[in-house]
Amino acid sequence: MDFSVPDEIVGLCDSVHAFMEEHVYPLERSGETWVMEVGGPAYPPAVVAVQEKAKAAGYWAFHLPREAGGADLPFRHYVLVNEILGRSLVAPACFGSQAPDSGNAEILWRYGSEEQKDRWLAPLVAGRIRSCFSMTEPEVAGSDPKLLRTTARRDGDEYVIDGHKWFTSGAHGASFAIVMAQTNPEAESPYARFSQIIVPTDTPGFNISRGIPVMGDRDNHHAEIWYENCRVPVSNCLGPEGSGFLIAQERLGPGRIHHCMRWLGMAQRAFELMCRYATQRETFGSVLARKANIQDWIADARADIHAARLMTLHAAWKIDTVGAAAAREEISLVKFFGARVLHDVVDKAIQVHGAAGLTEDHPLSAFYRQARLGRIYDGPDEVHKMVVSRRILSRYAEG
Ligand SMILES: Cc1cc2nc3c(=O)[nH]c(=O)nc-3n(C[C@H](O)[C@H](O)[C@H](O)COP(=O)(O)OP(=O)(O)OC[C@H]3O[C@@H](n4cnc5c(N)ncnc54)[C@H](O)[C@@H]3O)c2cc1C
Repeated sequence: MDFSVPDEIVGLCDSVHAFMEEHVYPLERSGETWVMEVGGPAYPPAVVAVQEKAKAAGYWAFHLPREAGGADLPFRHYVLVNEILGRSLVAPACFGSQAPDSGNAEILWRYGSEEQKDRWLAPLVAGRIRSCFSMTEPEVAGSDPKLLRTTARRDGDEYVIDGHKWFTSGAHGASFAIVMAQTNPEAESPYARFSQIIVPTDTPGFNISRGIPVMGDRDNHHAEIWYENCRVPVSNCLGPEGSGFLIAQERLGPGRIHHCMRWLGMAQRAFELMCRYATQRETFGSVLARKANIQDWIADARADIHAARLMTLHAAWKIDTVGAAAAREEISLVKFFGARVLHDVVDKAIQVHGAAGLTEDHPLSAFYRQARLGRIYDGPDEVHKMVVSRRILSRYAEG
C-alpha cells in the first residue's frame, strides 16, 4: 500500500481546512440550530449560504462520481478530505455529504432508473431536497434484518406498504424515504424477499408519529413512522424486485467507512482541544500537561487515532482496489475499532476539561453523544465483531 498523497490532494486538503475556518466553524459557533419539521425546508438559510460557497469552490459531494454531480474522489483520498469534514458536526451538510442522503444518492445512482434519477437523485445531489432511509423496526432486531415485517403487497401497478419503522433519521423535512419492505415472501432465501422502494413523504399513509430525541438531542431526531395502506407505483422499486439486501449491502459498506473517516477528524479535534487545555490548566502547582497520567492519556490517544487512521486508509485502499464486497472484513474491523477510539479519545478530552468539557461551550459533549451512537448505528459493535470472527474462524475450519 502506497502512503504517498498526490500534490493536488494535499492542496485540496489545505483549501478545505481553510474553508472550514472561514465558513464552517463560524456556522458551528453561531449555534444556528437545525430544527427538522414535517413540511419544513431541507436546510436552514445559514447552511444553504455555506453550501452555495462550497459548490462554487468545487467542494461538493466528494464521494459521488462526476456524472452524478460529485467530485469523484477515490476512497483512499476521500479519507483525507472527509476526516477534515468530521471535525465539525455541521460540516457534512455544508459539503453535500450528509447521511443518509449520501448513501441514498449512491444507491440511486447505481440502481435508479432514468426516471428515478431525474425525479429524486438530481435534486438530492443539488441539496434542494433531503431524504431518509427507513429500514429498522421497533418490534424486531435491526441487527438481523431478515426479521423485518414491513410488507409491500402488489396491487395492479401499485405497491401497498404496511409496517412500522423507527430510527428513520432525518425523515422530518425529507422529500422521500427509501423503505425496505417484503415484496417476495415466497422466495426461498430470506435475502431475496425484500426490496427497496421509494416513497414520497407526502404519500397518504406515510404517517410520522413522533421524532425520537436521542441522549438529549431534540433537534436531530429520528422518526417513528407508520406505513398504513401507503400506495406507490411499482416503478418506485429501486433495482430489480427482491434485491433489497444486495442494495442495502452496497449502501452500508461504503456508508460505514464514511462514518469512520469522519470519526478520525472528530477524535483529532478532541485530541487537539485536550492537548491545548492540558498546557493551560494549572492544578497543585503545575499545568495538567506535566502530570504523568495526562501524558499517558495523550500518548495512548495519539496511538489509538493513528491506528484507526491506518485501518481506515487500508480499508479505503482495499475498496478502491478490489471493491467493497472484498473489503467487508476490513470495513467491519474499522467500524467497531474506530467507534471505540472516538469514544475513548473524547472521554479523555472531557475528563481533562473537567466540568467545562460537559458544557455546550465545547463540541466535546456533542462528540461524546456521536461516539456513543456510532457504536450502534450501521451495525452494533458486536455484529461487526461477529462478521470478523466468523470469517477468521471459517478460514481455520477450512484448514
Ligand atoms: C443514531 C442512530 C441513527 C439511526 N439511523 C437509522 C436510519 O436512518 N435508518 C434505519 O433504518 N435505522 C437507523 N438506525 C437503527 C440502527 O441501524 C439499529 O439500531 C441497529 O441496526 C441495531 O438494531 P436494534 O437497535 O434493533 O438493536 P438489536 O438488533 O435489537 O440489538 C440489540 C443489541 O444486541 C446485541 N447484539 C445484536 N446482535 C448480536 C450478536 N450477533 N452477537 C452479540 N450481540 C448482539 C448488540 O449489543 C445490540 O446493541 C439508527 C440508529 C441510531 C442509534
